[in-house]
Amino acid sequence: MATRHLVAVLVAGTVLGLSGSAAGAEQPPPGGSVVRDVVLAVHGGAGSLPRGSISAEQERAYRDGLAAALRTGYRLLEQGRPSLDAVEAAVRVLEDDPNFNAGRGAVFNTDAEHELDASIMNGKDLRSGAVAGVHNTKNPVSLARMVMERSPHVMMAGVGADTFALRNGVPYTTQDYFFTQRRWDALLEAKEPDAAGAEPREGGGTVGAVAVDRARDVAAATSTGGLTNKLVGRVGDSPIVGAGTYANNRTLAISCTGTGEVFIRGVAAYDVSALMEYTRAPVQRAAAKVINEKIPALGATGGAIALAPSGALATPHSTAGLLNGYITRDGRIVTRIYNDETPAG
Ligand code: ASP
Repeated sequence: MATRHLVAVLVAGTVLGLSGSAAGAEQPPPGGSVVRDVVLAVHGGAGSLPRGSISAEQERAYRDGLAAALRTGYRLLEQGRPSLDAVEAAVRVLEDDPNFNAGRGAVFNTDAEHELDASIMNGKDLRSGAVAGVHNTKNPVSLARMVMERSPHVMMAGVGADTFALRNGVPYTTQDYFFTQRRWDALLEAKEPDAAGAEPREGGGTVGAVAVDRARDVAAATSTGGLTNKLVGRVGDSPIVGAGTYANNRTLAISCTGTGEVFIRGVAAYDVSALMEYTRAPVQRAAAKVINEKIPALGATGGAIALAPSGALATPHSTAGLLNGYITRDGRIVTRIYNDETPAG
């Protein structure tokens, strides 16, 4: 009798523990932090944002932007729409927001142009679409989806991609639409004679989204203007399936941010998925291994949002911070912009 009572208490304790994490509480299990019961997460780029470094107004703008993207995607998930719709819609909101380095607000290349990269992937069937170096497409993520759904291809680049957009009724725009003073000033600063060899610079503000829907199908999307002062024609990891973006129902949906060249060489997004698939590592351990160990060992820093079909979200970063936010199944929104708000592993 006494033993049965003890067992009942232990089981109740376990259940309580689980429901505590289901409410979205942070936990530091070995090998990385995780938030439970997430249906949609977004990021606004890896970088460093110490407290006190931005105005209250700028803080509000970042948090509002992330929250608006989460609300938009969540509404679709609530209506029973697929995760693919949710990540596209969430990324569109961030592309339209001039505070982020994607769509409007994108950084400039060496010739003071905007060249935009984006990709999207569906975890259910591994269908994916991507665009690189587009100049005139208002929402590159939607063009990436159109490449996936209306062309026999996976990736299109440059003029051909913009023309494909025009032919398919994707809103077309002129380059001045993407202009922001902040990104212009950053280009001029990068080009100053005493700047370190006029190297390309991390602009921060790349955006991405990962989601899981009612059918437990996952999807991921990423969009960026790339690096400030990048060479004309440079393509980063964001539109490369397996590097900056990956989704597979067997493992996770992931969107990366950081120095694209190294994320490509490290095949970062797929590496996290492969670790999960082949070693059965939980999402937080696999993502922390790649983002906090393997990518830095190749010489760069960055971060990722990584969501398992179970709703477990990992947000590792080797940069000081990672702008991100998530929404749980019950509609609770959390935005995290300052360095101390998101655990590194
Ligand atoms: N990964 C992006 C690129 O290399 C930049 C970033 O995430 O900040 O284009």
